[in-house]
Amino acid sequence: MRFQKLPIPWLAGLACVLAFTSGCRTAPRAGAPVTRLGDEIMVAGQLFHTGTRVVLWTDPGGYDAYRVERRFAPFDKSDWETSHADVRELQSPNRYGLRRPMVTKPDGTRESVLTPEQIEQVRGGGWDLPLLQSVVDQFVLHFDVAGVSRQCFNTLQDHRDLSVHFMCDLDGTIYQTLDLKERAWHATTSNTRSVGIEIANMGGYREVENSPLAKWYRHESNGQTTITLPANLGDGGIRTPGFVGHPARPEPVRGTIQGEDLLQYDYTPQQYAALIRLTATLCTVFPKIKCDYPRDASGKLIPKKLPDDELHNYQGVLGHYHIQTDKTDPGPALQWDYLIDNARRVMNGGFSPAANATSMGQMRSKM
Ligand SMILES: [Zn+2]
Repeated sequence: MRFQKLPIPWLAGLACVLAFTSGCRTAPRAGAPVTRLGDEIMVAGQLFHTGTRVVLWTDPGGYDAYRVERRFAPFDKSDWETSHADVRELQSPNRYGLRRPMVTKPDGTRESVLTPEQIEQVRGGGWDLPLLQSVVDQFVLHFDVAGVSRQCFNTLQDHRDLSVHFMCDLDGTIYQTLDLKERAWHATTSNTRSVGIEIANMGGYREVENSPLAKWYRHESNGQTTITLPANLGDGGIRTPGFVGHPARPEPVRGTIQGEDLLQYDYTPQQYAALIRLTATLCTVFPKIKCDYPRDASGKLIPKKLPDDELHNYQGVLGHYHIQTDKTDPGPALQWDYLIDNARRVMNGGFSPAANATSMGQMRSKM
């Protein structure tokens, strides 16, 4: 056949043209939009479903940590030069950096894990997913002490030279502010290896009286507790119209973090539902993030900073307080077992790992 004499690249080109002109389903029309469901997170330029509402930094109403100007300052004073002059804490126009893991050699010197070629690849943002998966192995939970995500972003972006990949608002809306390939500035020694989230919550205190909790939470006669935003925050920027938040448990939760006795109101059921989906997603996309929290020998949560070598070896979900002695977030109220057990269920297609193991055992015994 004469066809066989045609050079291979020409044949490949012909196949492409035929595919595009034959109305083949795999060939998208020029200008056809890619459909999004609104639950996607961005990881090294790829979108991954979470099953919960996510607002990306590129979406209307999103929060963009790539921008160098302040988000909430008067527009004519928001440029970087004015912001730098007006806010002493703002030292760098960029509020994120390059993930650049280092190892300590036996002689004590530090060495880059990435090769010079890999650094050349990623310095302009060109991470591929496998390389990013080899670096990211922790998911750090914070409470924001801002109360709502809009105020949280205001603090990070406009006042503090800080950043975080995700925020979770009172209504469970997740905001992503940077691609996960970026090194966000939220957890000091773990920044290079971690993904971070600031969960909207006013934090933990020694007593409710004389703390922000007294203003932010109101006990109702029906036994419920309602989150009451200060008037100056308006609707707080919460996306769900008319949203009224209630902590998952009506009474403040008492617990000891870093040896300090603290009271904190729980997160909302909407926040737990979103965190469960996001945790399951991150533990799936990043296989080095184990779906677990730091435990002692008896399997109980460790409620304080991990010793340096344990933290170095730890791969999984953890709190900011596991990283730094001066931090107490995400506080005594966070229900770690509820979060992790349900995230594992999501990863197992709706079954608990135990149920899964049992049914697998039954299947094997029938084989
Ligand atoms: Zn924190």
